[in-house]
Amino acid sequence: MLVVIHCYLFIVIYSLLIIKMLDYIVVGFGLAGLSFSEQLQQNKKSFVVISEEEKSSSVVAGGMYNPVILKRFTSPWNAVSQLEFAMPFYTAIENRMNIEVNNPLPVLRVFNAIEEQNNWLIASDKPNLAPFLSVSFKKNENEFILAENDFGIVEKAGRLQVAKLLSAYKSDLQKSDSYLNGSFEHDALEIFDAYVSYKGIKAKKIVFCEGYGMKSNPYFNYLPLNGTKGEVLIIKSEKLKLDSVVKSGVFLIPLDEVDHYLVGATYHWTDKTWEATDEARLELVNKLDVLLKCDYQIVDQLAGIRPTVKDRRPLVGKHPEYNNLFVLNGLGTRGVMVAPIVSDQLFDFIENEKILDAEIDVERFSAEYKNVSK
Ligand SMILES: Cc1cc2nc3c(=O)[nH]c(=O)nc-3n(C[C@H](O)[C@H](O)[C@H](O)COP(=O)(O)OP(=O)(O)OC[C@H]3O[C@@H](n4cnc5c(N)ncnc54)[C@H](O)[C@@H]3O)c2cc1C
Repeated sequence: MLVVIHCYLFIVIYSLLIIKMLDYIVVGFGLAGLSFSEQLQQNKKSFVVISEEEKSSSVVAGGMYNPVILKRFTSPWNAVSQLEFAMPFYTAIENRMNIEVNNPLPVLRVFNAIEEQNNWLIASDKPNLAPFLSVSFKKNENEFILAENDFGIVEKAGRLQVAKLLSAYKSDLQKSDSYLNGSFEHDALEIFDAYVSYKGIKAKKIVFCEGYGMKSNPYFNYLPLNGTKGEVLIIKSEKLKLDSVVKSGVFLIPLDEVDHYLVGATYHWTDKTWEATDEARLELVNKLDVLLKCDYQIVDQLAGIRPTVKDRRPLVGKHPEYNNLFVLNGLGTRGVMVAPIVSDQLFDFIENEKILDAEIDVERFSAEYKNVSK
């Protein structure tokens, strides 16, 4: 019955779409696709999203936004401006859709040695880190956390409930017949000077937001998307009662569901499969056992591939030959903070002829395109 309803809805939406010329087709609905869709909604553009649901890095993501690299106490690329843009961006969606998905949460960094505390204090003097690194440390009062020294506190960090946000946003798009669930077949795309056509759906422009799926996109797979596999565990522990994120060898992040925590993540550069592995589970359990002094149950294990790039910068811009094909990708390990601002930059580039920041513009890989198109 459900399948029949699904097919019927698909036919109705599809029939409505092929009649008119849309402004945009958006392919892929993770953080990149959602952020660009939000730009389109805010600017009253007509569009349809086409996305499959599997193989999504966003659904697996811990959803942390954290403006400090906690290994070396340095600032990630453009973190301050990304955060300043991202917070009101997500709040606007929360308000419009009447949902709560952004949970500000301090991050408690476990210090392994007094020397690390000193390094923290030195870092907290730097202008780009001062707003985030608290100069007062916090005593460990949780008997189930193993931490001999005090914690350093990162302020203005938090967690975006990405899966919940995507699901709510998708339902909203479905209400206006703007979401098609399924795989985009690149062979079926026809490109004309003034528009593109996909199985009868016509749009002035198409934006590919496919994450690691871009590897199968013949128009943009010349770009050096490496991909870094990551896995997380979901655990349940009744004793722990944490209301902050704790970072030692892993992040331990309290989830919405009572007594549930996300533990992650791993980094694997050669395995490009989407399946969870025993190896990652063992790595996470070993790191967790150094941090926790209480029992826990593993409830789930999730795996995804982060769309990481050779030069660690997003992939944003226009196809070298086709003026109506665009890409929004390469969000790397920090999609929550990066996606809103780069989607805004892409929109301004397309619609308002604003020049893209050279660091994110795919133009920087034009030599790679020339090599493959020879
Ligand atoms: C384990 C793990 C933990 C992470 N933790 C964090 C974190 O705490 N904070 C943070 O900011 N980031 C985190 N990340 C990184 C974050 O997930 C990414 O930066 C971000 O989600 C990438 O979003 P995206 O939209 O570009 O790609 P994706 O989320 O992968 O979305 C791409 C979508 O396009 C669809 N698609 C692809 N090809 C096609 C096609 N041909 N037809 C139709 N649909 C297609 C896919 O199915 C998918 O739904 C983590 C990643 C992993 C794997």
